[in-house]
Order: sequence, then C-alpha cells, then structure tokens
Amino acid sequence: MKKLKFSDSKKIVIKVGTSTIANNDGFDKEFLVKLSSEVSSWMDNGIGVVIVSSGAIFAGLKKLKVNDKPNILSELQAAAAIGQMDLAQVYKDIFTKNNKIAAQVLLTHEDLSDRKRYLNARSTINNLITSGVVPIINENDTVSTEEIQFGDNDNLAAMVANLIEADYLVLLTDQEGLFSNDPAIDINASLIEKAFTDDKRLDSLAKNTSSRYGTGGMVTKIEAARRASLSGTHTIIANGKIDETFFKLFNNKSVGTFLESRLEKKIAKKKWLADNLRSCGRLILDKGASIAILEKGKSLLPIGVLEVEGKFDRGEVVSCVDSKGIEIAKGLVNYNSVDSKKICGVSSDEIKSILGFMNEVNIIHRDNLVVM
Ligand code: GLU
Repeated sequence: MKKLKFSDSKKIVIKVGTSTIANNDGFDKEFLVKLSSEVSSWMDNGIGVVIVSSGAIFAGLKKLKVNDKPNILSELQAAAAIGQMDLAQVYKDIFTKNNKIAAQVLLTHEDLSDRKRYLNARSTINNLITSGVVPIINENDTVSTEEIQFGDNDNLAAMVANLIEADYLVLLTDQEGLFSNDPAIDINASLIEKAFTDDKRLDSLAKNTSSRYGTGGMVTKIEAARRASLSGTHTIIANGKIDETFFKLFNNKSVGTFLESRLEKKIAKKKWLADNLRSCGRLILDKGASIAILEKGKSLLPIGVLEVEGKFDRGEVVSCVDSKGIEIAKGLVNYNSVDSKKICGVSSDEIKSILGFMNEVNIIHRDNLVVM
C-alpha cells in the first residue's frame, strides 16, 4: 500500500499537550505564533487542520495561583472552566493575525459514543473545515464525570481523527518521540523512528509519565495511535517545541516517531461498519440512486429511495438494497425511520416543509456510506 504524503493530506489532527503550549510564565507565545503560522500555511495548501488543545486546567490553576494540580475532580473542572476562556482567546488572537478564523468545540466522551451526537459533531467539524476555519477542540471538562472522561487529550485527539477520518494525527509533546527506554534514566535509549501501530514491541517500550498539569504519557500516545489507526490514520509523535518539526512535517521528512496504520482508509471504514454495527433497517433504492452510489460515489438522496423498512433512529446503520433486493451499501442514516418514510421519493428541497426541519440534504452522506 502506498502511503499518503503528509503534504498531500486532506485532513489532519494536531494534538497540543499542556507541556507544549505552556511554559513557566503561562502560554508559550513563541510556540503559538509558530503553530498558527504553520497551520495557516498548511490550510492555504488545502489541508484541513483540527487542533486538539489542552491547557485549560493549567491556565485556570495559574489564575487561581494554585501551584500543584489538585486531585479533586470538581476543583480541576472549576480550573478548566476558568482557563478555557483564556485558551480560546489565545487561539483566537493568534489565528486572527494569520487571517484565519478559529472555532471552539468542547466535547465529552458521550458526544462521540452516542450515534446521533457523533453525526452532529462530525458534520459540524467537517463544516468548519470546509469553511476554512480551524476548530480548536478540548474536552468539555466542566460536565465530564470520571466515568465519561476521555482522561487525556491524546485519546480525544484519536477519537476526533476517527470522527473526521484524518490522514494524520500529530501528537505534539515536549519529547523527541518514542524511545527504546526512558531517556531520562538511560543514556543509551534510542528514538524509535518508525513502527506499525500493531507492533507488539510498543507495549513494553512506553513508560507512563505525566506532566505537572496535563495527563498522559507515551502509553496513552501509543493507545491513541492504535485507536487512530482503526480509521486508517497514521500518527506522528514529535517535539512541538522545535521549529524544525513543522518544517519537516510539511516537507515529508522523517521527524519524531512515525506510527503507521496498516489499514487502508476505505477498508478501515468498511471493517468498522461491519464489526460494530448491525443494520437496523433497509432502504430500497431506485436504479438511478443505485448507480449514483455504486459508480459515482455520491451521497444517497431521499428522492432515490423507493421504500423504507424497519425501525431505526438517526445515526443507526441501514442497508441499502437495489430493486432486486441485493445489498449494495451500508451507511449511517441521517433521519429516523418515521421521518425517512415521510421523505422517501421526494426532492431534498421539500424535506424542510414535510418534516419542519432538515438535518442534511441527503439521507446518507457518502462519507458515512460503504459500498459492499
Ligand atoms: N482538558 C484538559 C485541559 O485542557 C487537558 C487534559 C490532558 O491533556 O490531559 O487542561
């Protein structure tokens, strides 16, 4: 399989950890200026960039003049609520200087595990990307309880990479990458430049370390890379504090640790749909819609649906069958079965007047559709 070059990516996710965005005085302005100018020029080159940024708890604690990270969840949440304002402001300011618009997106684990919310988050983030905006994502710490926390932004970033099917996930940290041993205690430790995400040897390499304000060490980074690889996303772990990192990334030069996914994107999606989701209903398509899906890679519009069978909710999986009853595709449906029945066979312009609202012009978006 030929690997996509970083500079040819359509979408990438960059995770900025607290140790990268912060220094002793507060937010590291020098790093942020560099990040925004690089990201802006990548966007000008046609790459959609999403930033998953930590730093809210750090900024909140700084404001409260608390030096040591508290253990009590509500204290951390309060700090995050305070600090998130500053975090959003700092991103807004640095991107405005590069004539780019930044948008704040706060997510909880539930937003990505509930299918309806998953679809909403996905459409919103994709919409921002196509509008040339840079989404700045963080966990919605204030409402996260221990059970539903992502826990660390490495995993959140991987889930966002899955959500938008990013080509690359870049985990920026204050380390060069993944080492054969902890370089702080072993001078012979060497940088792992490349490995496949499913390489078993990775398990024993990483020692879990956590920084003063953030969480997550190399273990969570490997976990995140493995999660991202499920959607065919490759991961790069690199030092965000070094200017050269950005240059090397965009020039497709080796930097930090490259963790390659063996899965091709299309296969990854097909596997995900097949493994995780059982079809809850069927849409019977007319000939035109079947051809549009099979041969032209189009989304499924309600006008091409002859009949709707079964009971399903928005975001569930349905089978698309041709007029002979042969399953040609599976996908995540944008309307529940009751609404789908009401709009089948009609033009998309009529959806709003029939239902009183419109989720999407299509009944299944092509990004959520897998041809069998
Ligand atoms: N959401 C946390 C913050 O903004 C960061 C979590 C983490 O990176 O460990 O501070």
